[in-house]
Amino acid sequence: MTKSEDLLSKVSNVTTESEFFSPMPEGYQKGKTRYCFVTGTVMSGLGKGIFSSCLAKLLQDKGLRVAPIKLEGYLNIDSGTLNPFRHGEVFVLDDGMECDMDLGTYERMLNLNLSRANFATSGQIFSSVLNKERHGDYLGRDVQMIPHVTGEVKLKLRTLALESDADVVFVEIGGTVGDLENAYYIEAMRELAYEEGPGHCCFVALTYIMEPPTLGEQKSKAAQLGIKQLMQLGIQPDIIACRASRPVNETARQKISIYSNVPLKRVISMHDCSSIYMIPSMLRDYGMDFEVVRLLGIEDRIDLRYERKSWGRWCDFTDKIGTANKEITIGISGKYTSLRDSYASIINALEHADIALHCKVNIDWIDTSDIEPKTAAEKLKHVDGIIVPGGFGIRGAEGKIACIQYARENNLPYLGICFGFQMAVIEFARHVCGIKEANSSEIVPDCLHAVIDILPEQKKIEGLGGNMRLGGREVLITPGSMAAKLFNNAKSTRLRFRHRYEVDPQYIGQLEEAGLVFSGRAPDHPIMQILELPTHPYFMATQAHPCLTSRPLAPHPMFVGLVAAAMQRRFPEDKLPEALEVVERVCV
Ligand code: GLN
Repeated sequence: MTKSEDLLSKVSNVTTESEFFSPMPEGYQKGKTRYCFVTGTVMSGLGKGIFSSCLAKLLQDKGLRVAPIKLEGYLNIDSGTLNPFRHGEVFVLDDGMECDMDLGTYERMLNLNLSRANFATSGQIFSSVLNKERHGDYLGRDVQMIPHVTGEVKLKLRTLALESDADVVFVEIGGTVGDLENAYYIEAMRELAYEEGPGHCCFVALTYIMEPPTLGEQKSKAAQLGIKQLMQLGIQPDIIACRASRPVNETARQKISIYSNVPLKRVISMHDCSSIYMIPSMLRDYGMDFEVVRLLGIEDRIDLRYERKSWGRWCDFTDKIGTANKEITIGISGKYTSLRDSYASIINALEHADIALHCKVNIDWIDTSDIEPKTAAEKLKHVDGIIVPGGFGIRGAEGKIACIQYARENNLPYLGICFGFQMAVIEFARHVCGIKEANSSEIVPDCLHAVIDILPEQKKIEGLGGNMRLGGREVLITPGSMAAKLFNNAKSTRLRFRHRYEVDPQYIGQLEEAGLVFSGRAPDHPIMQILELPTHPYFMATQAHPCLTSRPLAPHPMFVGLVAAAMQRRFPEDKLPEALEVVERVCV
């Protein structure tokens, strides 16, 4: 039982006859933790997660303890079975929770490792209510949306508050105000604000200001109607953030202010900017950090000396954005190349390396469905490095193998991630070890040489969603290897996994004899987790997803190494240092 499950099971006030049904985790003190709720109106995809994480960061920088949570409206228990094409990438937390990509934004912005306590779906909430009903916990009551389902939501939020000992819990409600599926979340936050008492919660509404090209002016009516809908649900916003492509003008802000009772200084323009990492300073310039501190009455908890240091570190990072004096192109081959959200963490990890190395990284999306060994050279001639990312299924697999063969034979820097690790093993087995039929049983179930096969212990577990190897795991690093250099000579490193298949141990000896080095392994099983080619300038792959743990102030060494190697290849005349030396300098 995890700590949060334990707390969730110890609740008081569950069996009351009173209409004030509101289960509380044992030990919860009302008013200690404050809450900031973030909702969206007009449309989804406004960047609520980005806004909420940036605001949370400003408070964290003041020495406050913050804990974010995302509430999803859908009925799935987690995001594991969602198609990344429809819903963006599946982000995996250290505890193995498969969740929405916004959790990645929170982890990166706040430099925190989150857990399942930071993510809820309607599926989880309802399943918990139904289990309690079967268990007889509601004693003779008819179980209703209000108060029982809303009570469960409040319990989840208060459990997070207690467990994290946060000064402020940031609650992001998925979807848009007006959606049937998240209406009960909005009701739950209204109830919670009432119960916690005045001055303990604040409400932020994100909205959208349209600017139809035919009119050439900003229109705020949709935003006004969206806010009105929120107010009809009993929520008075304290801050309204107006998303728009260009800065929102004073007239539009005034109109929204007068319709919503929100002072003009708290109706702010959140227009597009070059990097999401610039948003914290934008919000700080508007004074939103102190507005929230005042609205929540926590002025006495902030530490301005701490803030000077943490803000200084952050500004050292943001000062480097856009100062690149070199440019390279990394090719990413993948199935979902038409939707960038499907590879959000990889794009972020490359951006972190880009900023750290002052080198603009352009991404070239390569559809591998029509690539063959003959055409690979043509398709890859302009890239300085290549990533084969995580993936599932057969489509494009042979094209990926062809790209990897080209990278291996032509000293093109390569980083393989999960599926990209497996495809690299197959490529090496076929073309170096001479095992012509080498394949993965995911691609050809009855292939003669399944060098990549389903994990023996997973074979027993049936059903999608239940048989993945998920979450953070230790990886033992072979001393003296390239990986050891990347990870600063550490004996082990922690990486996050999400896979069903792995290298079949019976082929390891043959692969190693032919020159492939497995430089990262699981401590307790013969599971190969990192591979490298010592004869190649940068040929690294991992069964894990290092992109999930790359952070703005701590870029991941495997990505820094790739970008540094690509720079060295692109600018031979500059005599740039070896990739591994660069990593040693940058990733301390
Ligand atoms: N499909 C592969 C597996 O299940 C790789 C998974 C991935 O890339 N996340 O092992």
